Amino acid sequence: MSQRSDILNLTMDELSTWLNQYDIKSYRAKQVAKWIYSCQADRFDVMTDLGKNIRSLLTKHFFIGRLKTAKIAHSSDGTKKYLFKLADQNVIETVLIPERDHYTLCISSQVGCAQGCQFCLTAKGGCIRNLSRSEIIAQVRDVENDLPDDSRLTNIVIMGMGEPLANYKNVVSAVNTIIDGDDGLNYSSRRVTLSTAGVASRLGDLGQDTPVNLAISLNATDNETRDMLMPINRRHPIEQLLQACREYPLKPRRRITFEYVLIKGINDSVENAKRLVNLLRPIRAKINLIPFNEHEGCDFKRPEESVILTFQDLLVKNNFTAIIRRSKGEDISAACGQLRVNSA
Ligand code: SAH
Repeated sequence: MSQRSDILNLTMDELSTWLNQYDIKSYRAKQVAKWIYSCQADRFDVMTDLGKNIRSLLTKHFFIGRLKTAKIAHSSDGTKKYLFKLADQNVIETVLIPERDHYTLCISSQVGCAQGCQFCLTAKGGCIRNLSRSEIIAQVRDVENDLPDDSRLTNIVIMGMGEPLANYKNVVSAVNTIIDGDDGLNYSSRRVTLSTAGVASRLGDLGQDTPVNLAISLNATDNETRDMLMPINRRHPIEQLLQACREYPLKPRRRITFEYVLIKGINDSVENAKRLVNLLRPIRAKINLIPFNEHEGCDFKRPEESVILTFQDLLVKNNFTAIIRRSKGEDISAACGQLRVNSA
């Protein structure tokens, strides 16, 4: 008997082509997508606008992927961390963050991460594997399915475990389905942000391949410090990264977000803030300051509050939008850089 495969791994074009080989018209693929992405269908039987023979053909060859929820952790601040167990028993984490009038979902792109950033807990376990297109989409689709109908999940950030540009094909394919208003999950591309440690050589393609927002984890203002914090800097140093940002095909009224994890005594001085201003001046940028989230096995510390505010103040005085990202979900290890593969 042939093994059934996960239909979420197929793009619309691929599904149309597959159906065409049975002389089934392409518009049928659109009907299937509506059921899967708008109606949360789990079985092909419920797709009543498809003929019975098409439904049984699909049932014979495909299933509709879901992730297994191993655990949901609730933080006192309303943050919810989903621990999903994948078919091969690996575990990934997806974090639902309540904002003032909506939710943001932080999704993972890999099991673990190979980047080796010194301040990040995910880095400690290395990279186990890339997530499939289905596993990326399912994080959004399954959390939607778990939420009450009136909850406003409007924003998606690809800032969980993994380096999205190291899993380029699956991430771009999944993200484009997440923002597809006709045949996908219908999120606004303005409300979806992909965050990278800075694979400069990939940014040109990315700007062509998807219209979602770009965030760069900069975290340092000189190569010596960035080499130490983020090994990727040895391959793509700051000048090269910022050059790629300047060339990035930014849409009108959009800006690139620069994330800057503030670490005590490492990158939090006034000199650093001044250098950051000079580096980012030629770019349409906004800055997210993330006070370092401390975790076991890492000696870095979060700066004093006054240092954080002074850093922000200097950026703001130089006309940058600079927001301090207060950590959420710390009590359930759901804060930035606290996601860990073996926490199941
Ligand atoms: N690999 C991607 C996405 C995952 S990391 C990237 O590098 O952007 C998501 C964000 O969390 C990055 O901006 C990273 O700098 C930040 N981060 C990692 N560990 C952290 C920690 N311990 N405290 C605060 N932010 C952290």
